[in-house]
Amino acid sequence: MSRVHVIGAGVAGLSAATSLAARGARVVLYEAAKWGGGRCRSYDDLQLGCRIDNGNHLLLSGNLSTMAYLERIGAGDTMAGPDKPVFPFIDLVSGDYWALRLNRGVTPWWVLRKDWRVPGTRARDYLALRRLQKARPDDLVAGLLGDLGVLYDRLLEPLAIAALNTRPDVAAAAPLAAVVAESIARGGAASMPRYPAIGLSESFVDPALAFLRENGAELRFGARIAGLTVSDARVTGLVGPQVDEIIGPNDRIVLATPPWVAAELIEGLVVPDQFESILNLHFRAGIDGGVAGFYGLLGGVAEWVFEKTEVVSVTISAANDRLDRDTDALAAEVWSDLRRGFGLPRTMPPYRVVREKRATFAATPAQLARRPGPQTRLGNLVLAGDYTATTLPSTIEGAIRSGETAARLI
Ligand SMILES: Cc1cc2nc3c(=O)[nH]c(=O)nc-3n(C[C@H](O)[C@H](O)[C@H](O)COP(=O)(O)OP(=O)(O)OC[C@H]3O[C@@H](n4cnc5c(N)ncnc54)[C@H](O)[C@@H]3O)c2cc1C
Repeated sequence: MSRVHVIGAGVAGLSAATSLAARGARVVLYEAAKWGGGRCRSYDDLQLGCRIDNGNHLLLSGNLSTMAYLERIGAGDTMAGPDKPVFPFIDLVSGDYWALRLNRGVTPWWVLRKDWRVPGTRARDYLALRRLQKARPDDLVAGLLGDLGVLYDRLLEPLAIAALNTRPDVAAAAPLAAVVAESIARGGAASMPRYPAIGLSESFVDPALAFLRENGAELRFGARIAGLTVSDARVTGLVGPQVDEIIGPNDRIVLATPPWVAAELIEGLVVPDQFESILNLHFRAGIDGGVAGFYGLLGGVAEWVFEKTEVVSVTISAANDRLDRDTDALAAEVWSDLRRGFGLPRTMPPYRVVREKRATFAATPAQLARRPGPQTRLGNLVLAGDYTATTLPSTIEGAIRSGETAARLI
């Protein structure tokens, strides 16, 4: 019987593997690490004495591929978030607090309510969001929306940085347009913030691995694929320190590694080659996360802060220029932001700084032009991963959708 070999157990590989296993395919999953999840995982932090996520991941109820994936693996009830489409913000400079609120339906009457939209904006300012529908490949976020004053400073810029993990003066507008089209443009019901109730692995990884085991898949951890044997434009073997696998004539392969690994394995494959980092700081402290469980912070170093069970977690996106910053100094700066926003004590609690150097590819027009489609010159291999040409930025939704596409092609 033929098999499907899935290389990489990040969410793209898990999406492809579970989708294929659900359709009765014999799946073999190869993962270089000893754990699954890739850039979306939880782990026990010895220094903090608790379990943390590598980084805060925010999703939206309109992430339909993600929601379908969670249902498939039996983890549909593991997500948390407010029961309303609400995004609270704190301005650390002025001390202002406000919350963006959307109505559930498609007609955006929320823009007419002064207490629901961003303070200092007018209803007609929001009409400019329609510019996104016509975004061309070379349009930049700042170029397209940067003239929108308060609306840009207080909402569009922070949302763009969060969604694209790239500074808006160099980020392409097209992937932001794709995010808006699948969320805000479809109304509040598609724009509810969602995050794992316990942890990333508890939602996205562990249930998927259990699903695969139940469906007869073979899971190989610590199984890095270092090379492909190729003959007549088909892969005939997988090779690695712990792997020497012959690929049968009817076998198929899903290559769901990060882009730099895919380019090493497939000669001539063009992939994004510039990346942006994300810093996450986890403090052993508590805050009241309010109505949403998180806040957007403006005017400080910290950008988003999440109330977690045992820690307060802070995200700083598009952080290449802060990557080499001294750890203690960075933590002190972020703690000072948290003190201003939440009245926390002066003494900094134990903390952990997680630096994800290549968190996402840089969402610039030049990098987007390097995204490959799923099919390759190798007839029995398809690509999956957040870097493939999904139209979405480098996100869980994009990664999961790429896995579905790969499974469908197979
Ligand atoms: C800190 C942080 C915050 C983020 N925040 C958000 C967010 O808020 N919302 C959102 O939607 N997205 C967010 N993202 C992005 C999201 O995590 C990624 O888009 C997604 O996890 C990518 O999944 P992937 O499967 O494509 O790649 P990866 O997660 O990189 O998976 C690739 C897998 O392949 C394995 N592998 C590599 N080489 C080999 C090899 N040779 N052989 C076998 N296996 C190999 C790796 O170990 C890894 O497990 C964030 C990312 C980070 C890092």
